[in-house]
Amino acid sequence: MQGTLFVVSAPSGAGKTSLVHALVESNPDLHVSVSHTTRPQRPGEVNGVNYHFVDSDQFAAMLNENAFLEHAQVFGNLYGTSKQSVADQLKAGHDVILEIDWQGAEQMRRQAPDAVSVFILPPSKEVLQQRLVGRGQDSDDVIQSRMAQAAEQISHHVEFDYLIINDDFNIALDELKAVITSHRLTQNKQAQRYQSLITSLLS
Ligand code: GDP
Ligand code: ADP
Ligand code: 5GP
Repeated sequence: MQGTLFVVSAPSGAGKTSLVHALVESNPDLHVSVSHTTRPQRPGEVNGVNYHFVDSDQFAAMLNENAFLEHAQVFGNLYGTSKQSVADQLKAGHDVILEIDWQGAEQMRRQAPDAVSVFILPPSKEVLQQRLVGRGQDSDDVIQSRMAQAAEQISHHVEFDYLIINDDFNIALDELKAVITSHRLTQNKQAQRYQSLITSLLS
C-alpha cells in the first residue's frame, strides 16, 4: 500500500516545525522529509536531521539532475524536497510530511493531487513576532524580513485543505493528529489496508 503525502505550510514562526516534531513522536508511521537548503545552519541544527545543508553549487547540481520534487526560493535562500527520499518512503508504505512554503505546496498540488495540505496560522501578528524573537535563532533583520512577508504567505491559506490556528499548542496538535487520522480512515485507504478482511467478510 502506497503512503500518503501531507504538506504543512505556515508563516515562519507559526509553530509548524514544533507541531510536526510532536506529531511524528507519537506517530511512528509518519516520516518527515528532510529538505535541502542553502540557508546557513542555525546553532543547534544538525546536518541531515533538520536539513541537508548545501551550498549554491550543490543545489544547482541537484536541480540540473532533476533531483527535486519541488523547490523554491524563500527569504533569499533555496529550499527543495528530494524526489528519491520521498518516493522511497511512500513506496515502503509510510506517510510522509513535507514542511514547505506555499510555492512548494503549489508545485505539489500539480504533481501529487492526492496530497493532503494543512496551513497553520498564529493567533495574532503580535504573537507571531514574539515567537520569532523568543525562538532566539534569527537576527533582528531576518525577523523583520520574515514578519514583512508573513501577510503575503498567509494570503495563500485559501489554497489548502485544512486550516489550524496554533494558539494553544496541545489543541493545535490534537487538530493536526485529527487531520492525519481522518484521512487514514477514508474508505479508499481503509479498503486497501483491510483488503483481506473485506474479502473474507464478503465470501
Ligand atoms: P521556519 O519558517 O522557521 O520553519 O524556517 P526555515 O528556515 O526552516 O524555512 C524557511 C521556509 O522554507 C519555510 O517557509 C519553509 O516552509 C520553507 N521550506 C523548507 N523546506 C522547504 C522545501 O524543501 N521546499 C520548499 N519549497 N520550501 C521549503
Ligand atoms: P516555524 O517552524 O513555523 O517557523 P517553530 O515551530 O520554530 O515555527 O515555532 C516558533 C517558536 O514558537 C518556537 O520557539 C516554539 O517553541 C514556539 N511555539 C510554537 N507553538 C507555540 C504555541 N502554541 N504557544 C507558544 N509558543 C509556541
Ligand atoms: P527556515 O529557514 O526558518 O527553517 O524555513 C523558512 C521557510 O522555508 C519555512 O516557511 C519552511 O516551511 C520553508 N521550507 C523549508 N524547507 C522547504 C522545502 O523543502 N521546500 C519549500 N518549498 N519550502 C521549504
